Amino acid sequence: MKKQTHLLHAGRNAKENFGIVNPPVYHASTVTFPTVEAMNKAGENPTEGIYYGRMATPTSHAFEEAVAALEGADKAIAVQSGLAAITGAILAFVKNGDHILVTDSAYFPTKKFCNTVLKGFGVETTYFNPTIGSNIEKLIQPNTKVIFTESPGSLTFEVQDIPAITKVAKDHKIITMIDNTWAAGYFFNAFDHGCDISIQAATKYIGGHSDVMLGTIALGDDLYKKVKTYVYGLGYCAAPDDCYLAQRGIRTLPARLKIHEENGMKLASWLKEQPEVKRVLHPAFEDCPGHDIFKRDFTGACGLFSIVLQDHYSEKAVASMLDGMELFPMGYSWGGYESLMIPFNPKGARNASSWEDQGPCLRLHAGQENVEDLINDLDKGFERLNKG
Ligand SMILES: *Cc1c(COP(=O)(O)O)cnc(C)c1O
Repeated sequence: MKKQTHLLHAGRNAKENFGIVNPPVYHASTVTFPTVEAMNKAGENPTEGIYYGRMATPTSHAFEEAVAALEGADKAIAVQSGLAAITGAILAFVKNGDHILVTDSAYFPTKKFCNTVLKGFGVETTYFNPTIGSNIEKLIQPNTKVIFTESPGSLTFEVQDIPAITKVAKDHKIITMIDNTWAAGYFFNAFDHGCDISIQAATKYIGGHSDVMLGTIALGDDLYKKVKTYVYGLGYCAAPDDCYLAQRGIRTLPARLKIHEENGMKLASWLKEQPEVKRVLHPAFEDCPGHDIFKRDFTGACGLFSIVLQDHYSEKAVASMLDGMELFPMGYSWGGYESLMIPFNPKGARNASSWEDQGPCLRLHAGQENVEDLINDLDKGFERLNKG
């Protein structure tokens, strides 16, 4: 079965559910057992069955089945947010005295977790330049337990050579993780490229409607029990209504991504021709570091990318552009049906790589609006930008 077909069917069980197309939402804390024997038996292997509400419900299992199908993984674990998926997955593999390698282009809260929580626990983080490739071997220490990648990187979109990194990691028996949110687990198959764990903020494209907080950890059977037991122990669990909504999101993910991709490409192409724009940081464009790797390893692009404006624009001019946008409100997060834009400055967030551009940066999310309307809005925005 092709993935598009598989995604429509995974995690459904109409036969067991009166023929109804979508699985029901189970709200549960207590799961009751009829006998002491049944209770003890369930306790022997709690990560597999329905044991306690925080461990799993049929609703979370159904969603996780669909995520595993999406990512091409044996299993998936749903947790309450994308950041919880990242922190839970990392914590499952480190202890005091260990060391991890994290891409410098990681989502900033991931870095903040490393710099505060992990540091406090005596786990050291070394950031690496996202374009490092197989040279990552030079940064490996005897106590390195995890290599954490994110490709393309948050805000600046460097595409990483994941096969080169995972090959080195395998030689050293180090677990590799990728934050696969940008590709939505759809345009990049983490496991075909050697990753052990693929993480997503399902909050973004899987949810797809800006109304769900959810994270997913996709992984092989060999790692499932370890990670599931760990995140259960941390108290992490995904809410049933969010699992239900996100599972609906998976059914329409390929169709929605097609529109985001197309609108993103059209916006980026138009922006590239504008005199106000110095660089377009979209993996499908040559300006973007790792563009060749993108062409080799990815099957498409989502609607999220950035631009660097010319050097001379002031903060005030940028604010005047952004404040007047009709179709690009400012907001964190992305992956819903609507367009968004935020200003950012990569300079302060760099540890292992430098940022040379002087001009202000904008991150855009191409939503599903008519693209001519979006371009008109940007065009008027540039008029405000030029007026200062
Ligand atoms: C949004 C985001 C996260 C965090 O997801 P939440 O659900 O908001 O916690 C993690 N990684 C990336 C790349 C993101 O864009």
